[in-house]
Amino acid sequence: MSARARFSQRVDRLPKYPAAPGYAWKGDIARLASNESPDPPLPQVLEAAQRALTDLNRYPDPTQGELRERLAHRYDVPVERIAIGNGGSDLLIAAGDALLEYGAEVIYAWPSFSMYPHLAQAAGATEIRVPLKDDFIDLDAMLGQITAATQLIVVCNPNNPTSTALPMAEIEAFLAKVPRHIWVILDEAYIEYSLVDDPDASLDILPKYANLALMRTFSKVYGLCGLRVGFVLCGSVEMCQAFYSVRQPFSVNAVAQAAASEAIQHQDAVAQRVERAIAARLQLDDGLRKLGIVPRASQANFSWFRVGDGEAEIAIVGELANRGVLVRSGTALGEAGYLRVTYGQPHENARFLSELATLL
Ligand SMILES: *Cc1c(COP(=O)(O)O)cnc(C)c1O
Repeated sequence: MSARARFSQRVDRLPKYPAAPGYAWKGDIARLASNESPDPPLPQVLEAAQRALTDLNRYPDPTQGELRERLAHRYDVPVERIAIGNGGSDLLIAAGDALLEYGAEVIYAWPSFSMYPHLAQAAGATEIRVPLKDDFIDLDAMLGQITAATQLIVVCNPNNPTSTALPMAEIEAFLAKVPRHIWVILDEAYIEYSLVDDPDASLDILPKYANLALMRTFSKVYGLCGLRVGFVLCGSVEMCQAFYSVRQPFSVNAVAQAAASEAIQHQDAVAQRVERAIAARLQLDDGLRKLGIVPRASQANFSWFRVGDGEAEIAIVGELANRGVLVRSGTALGEAGYLRVTYGQPHENARFLSELATLL
């Protein structure tokens, strides 16, 4: 008998990311499963990425100087309070390393983004999941879960996968009640698509809360998820330094830095993408209502709705995939019986609706 080398116990604890199937499939597929932008990168962004390719024999700038300068200008937040990561997901995992002691409690709503359980488990923290109320995040219930052991609260607004958003006034009232020694991450991956408030409303409250971080990403409205760039706007310099201290110096690659630095300069294109997403939202939600389905009031680039019980949902997701339409299963995201469907190009949304109609 020979003993086998063993993984750390941490590895056994880590949840497996519920990846959507179909990445390798070729052909005419409507990719509506991963909340990506259906629009290709802007030509200027592609040119910036291409220019960066000629310098690939050099390491990328570990301070992400140009990108942070441009973000500082765009969001009016000092450079020293902006941390860049290899996607927002990288920063969420970094938050676990940087902000949590072993055994600390992390509070988040559920269902919400799949990376939060990962963050907690990887840091050896205890997760406290707070059920949604009618698919909305229940901030009062989250406050009710705070204990002496609480170190971090994560709020996803708009919430993935339920598409709902809370008004910033409610979030600010919540922040005022959270003890200042507890970190709060407000995950705003979809905030540009929200019509509830000005998407930059959270920036106005950031200076008041040293324990707050706003998380944003180039993966959604900027359409650069293939390159992996996300950022946090921190309420304090110390918090930002903590993010950097747990990351390897070159975690954001040179092409990603160049492309994101260019993309942030094109806010007009962002506005046009948001307009197209909102038109798609109307198209999809209208079509769903005609099929007798009532979607949640979406403030994101996807819709969330019930199609039946868990068995029916899984059958529908599978049958849609057979027909080349990829959508996300609610079971995989924490709520059986639901679908999450990302807005695609108008013809893709129409294709989804007509395939769904034949399956109901
Ligand atoms: C997509 C997403 C992110 C960030 O994703 P990255 O591609 O890692 O930048 C963060 N939070 C939520 C809720 C998301 O859906």
